[in-house]
Amino acid sequence: MANKEVKKSADALGTATPREDPLADTRSLISQEIPHGVNRRSFLMRSAVGGAAAVMTGCSVSPEEKTAKAVATLPAPAAVTAPPLALDLHVVMKEKGPILTTVDEFYKVGPGPSSSHTIGPMRITYDFYQRATQLPADKLATATKLQVNLFGSLSATGKGHGTERAALAGLVGKEPATVDPKFLDSLRDKPDQVFPVKLGDKTINVSLKDVIYDATKGDFKHPNTMTVKLLAGSDVLLEQEYYSVGGGFIEWKGYTPPKKNPPKYPFATMKELRAHAESNKTTMAKIMLANEMSISGKSEAEVYAFTDKIINAMVATVKSGLSMSEDDVLPGPIKLHSKAATVYKRAMDDKFESDRGIGAISAFALAASEENGRGHLVITAPTGGSAGVMPALVYGLVEVRKVPLQKVREGMLAAAAVGYLCKHHATLSAAEGGCQAEIGVASSMAAALTATAFDADSHVVENAAESALEHHLGMTCDPVAGYVQVPCIERCAFGAVKAWTAYAIASNEIASRHRIDFDATVLALAQTAKEMNSKYKETSEAGLALSVVLC
Ligand code: SF4
Repeated sequence: MANKEVKKSADALGTATPREDPLADTRSLISQEIPHGVNRRSFLMRSAVGGAAAVMTGCSVSPEEKTAKAVATLPAPAAVTAPPLALDLHVVMKEKGPILTTVDEFYKVGPGPSSSHTIGPMRITYDFYQRATQLPADKLATATKLQVNLFGSLSATGKGHGTERAALAGLVGKEPATVDPKFLDSLRDKPDQVFPVKLGDKTINVSLKDVIYDATKGDFKHPNTMTVKLLAGSDVLLEQEYYSVGGGFIEWKGYTPPKKNPPKYPFATMKELRAHAESNKTTMAKIMLANEMSISGKSEAEVYAFTDKIINAMVATVKSGLSMSEDDVLPGPIKLHSKAATVYKRAMDDKFESDRGIGAISAFALAASEENGRGHLVITAPTGGSAGVMPALVYGLVEVRKVPLQKVREGMLAAAAVGYLCKHHATLSAAEGGCQAEIGVASSMAAALTATAFDADSHVVENAAESALEHHLGMTCDPVAGYVQVPCIERCAFGAVKAWTAYAIASNEIASRHRIDFDATVLALAQTAKEMNSKYKETSEAGLALSVVLC
């Protein structure tokens, strides 16, 4: 019965105030302001119960009285609604102040399959090798051995990632961006090879036996911890504890970020970045370019020369993956057949254009991700495991849609901003945050890339990035047999398609009505990372890694 009818029948009965109908219009109830510090759901329930009781007892209660009664029966509000993140947690923002990361630190070319388990360890042992060469000649003359110990996730899943081969390659002076993947393949095929390492006048022989898979559990500062030592018999000449913190970034005990020039437009949140863009009537990509130039001291041409190199490398990795034989089998015990070429060919035969589009994006992502699984060169965007996501969209924009290069360059800068913010406030490491930190961030970056390349305004770029990240929250990391293949390769395809979906939604909705802001979702990423069971953080101890039995 509608309120008006209730009133009419009450009047007919000569009743001054009608009884409330509990099924009547509740808008007055809902539109009441929720008192400060009160949980909305509890308040509404108690308020409704109060109203129903009034109907049953025949007592009329005004909305204000209902509010007072509902509040009086509520339990005392909790002092803090969201638990603070533990300060000793790595995923808590460690770097105070504005973001100072630059594109050449962020997008790294190196061998797959994992930026934290191959590129990071290779950079670490290369760094140690450089430090060791600085020791006095008399010390170096006594050196007998180089030794690498892998701990935590590096030890738990390093074998599947080829971490020992990457670590040895760095020790013998190979760098991730220029190493020939065939060198790493040769270490796999002939594991007994011995290499001379020259330190001053001294030459030390090293082999895979010098890389030790050590404790998987312990009180490590970071889940991806390793030590490198130069020994003279049992005496330690030089020792350094390192951390491969995700995305190929490395740190070490006592690490302090390098001093850099201040950015032209300082920002530490998406809100601040977007505010710079809007107040300067420009795009986020242009703000990023100005910051890149002021932090690194590079010219615009130099910044774009680097983004071009990365765009070309991404296109090349997709092309290379698509060119692989449909009968190719990826290395490792899963015996996974590559399928990028098959999916692409068959998708092109689909009747509907939309099906062809989704099939093609998936195939591009599979292609780049399978290259990662082969240990070939990939680009961290932000990581090796997620190395199929951004290249899929870049390839689609450059090779299929023929978007002007300048737009794709700007997209790369906007995508980098998304990656920086996730690194700054949460993590890019699956060992800390599960797959949401890899594929989730990659998808979010790819959504920002796409929106920027299609000239969307800053609000749409933020919304697209937010949406893609939001729908990866909670995603665990459970690579089967410790190999970055299942679920990783298909997951890249899903990340790429979700990036496109996020762009499609963001560019078609009314931007100002998007209710979740990017910064809140990054906080949710950090919080979820903190509370995720460690079994689901690149340890291959749970999830698919447990349920899939290889035969
Ligand atoms: S499951 Fe995700 S995070 Fe884990 S290795 Fe695979 S791609 Fe990386």
